[in-house]
Amino acid sequence: METRSAESMIKSFGGKKWTSIEKILANFDLPIEESTLNYESFRVICAALFPPDEIQQNDWMIQNIFRLFDCDRDGILKGQEWKTFCDWLRVMVEPVIALLIVDVQNDFIDGSLALRDCGCNQDGVDVVEPINYLIKEGQFDKIIYSRDWHPENHISFYENLHLRELHPDSKITKENAKPFDTVMFADLHLEQKLWPKHCVMNTKGSDFHKALVIAPGAEQVLKGQDPEVDSYSVFFDNNSKNTTQLLPLLKEARVTHVFICGLAYDVCVKSTALDGLRLGYPVAVINDCCRGVDIDDIEDTKKLISENGGLIVNSEDVLSLVNEKKRSLIMSHQSAKMMTSISFSERSVNTSAE
Ligand SMILES: [Zn+2]
Repeated sequence: METRSAESMIKSFGGKKWTSIEKILANFDLPIEESTLNYESFRVICAALFPPDEIQQNDWMIQNIFRLFDCDRDGILKGQEWKTFCDWLRVMVEPVIALLIVDVQNDFIDGSLALRDCGCNQDGVDVVEPINYLIKEGQFDKIIYSRDWHPENHISFYENLHLRELHPDSKITKENAKPFDTVMFADLHLEQKLWPKHCVMNTKGSDFHKALVIAPGAEQVLKGQDPEVDSYSVFFDNNSKNTTQLLPLLKEARVTHVFICGLAYDVCVKSTALDGLRLGYPVAVINDCCRGVDIDDIEDTKKLISENGGLIVNSEDVLSLVNEKKRSLIMSHQSAKMMTSISFSERSVNTSAE
């Protein structure tokens, strides 16, 4: 590859929406078939792909992405390594983007578990307007709404404490327990926070907030239907045994990037984002479209998501990423990890068998 400076590349292509990986490679005098790429040239391409401030803050990610692709550690991407690099570029140029809106339901806004009564001065209703804006303005390929959807006898309800035995290890006894305390039930041997009864299926409390826009053709995922186990994550129950419809939906639509927002930031948004990252998805959490229960827990949540490879963004940046097809180094780093992991090969096998 002819060496060109990163700056001249940015000048030539900055702001322009690349429509195909072939065009990108052609701009660097690289044919798509049987090319090789050294680290220096890889850096030049990255400098043209990602915003300079993100590169400055996360420069190590560029080295790491190259290392992930360079299986034989010879400093050159060739053969299968080159193909993986091309697949990675393709995901960036032709992303399939999902917006996941978590639990924007009446009970979390003005019902029995209203966030504004949880003591951290946040109000769930504040997410409705910015989420509606994203739904209307963002060119998402898939929009998915989740709903907390519990039976009357659900384990998480403080009011149901009398229905089950506590484990001897439980630090809090039935007699002393108050709402929002954490106990341990005998059968599950899993810690459970006791929430006020909320989001009972087919009630007003479990309905979406009336002002929330429901996009035509959107999907819905219900969670927390098993009376014996809570479900914070939209992917799995808290004991990770039962899965929801979310992962099959993402796979079927061949989603490559997941943007998450909704309620509550430090509970269900947190668990969903971390599970998405664990599954290998590039995940962005939309900060101004989330509200939570506890201010310290919200800060810890952001830290944890970042440490696990997720991106924390605001809605304006989301629109640039989604509509203008700008690229995020953090999300692309996660997508490189996904492509070079076993789970990705499994997923490729699954999708090619469809
Ligand atoms: Zn719940």
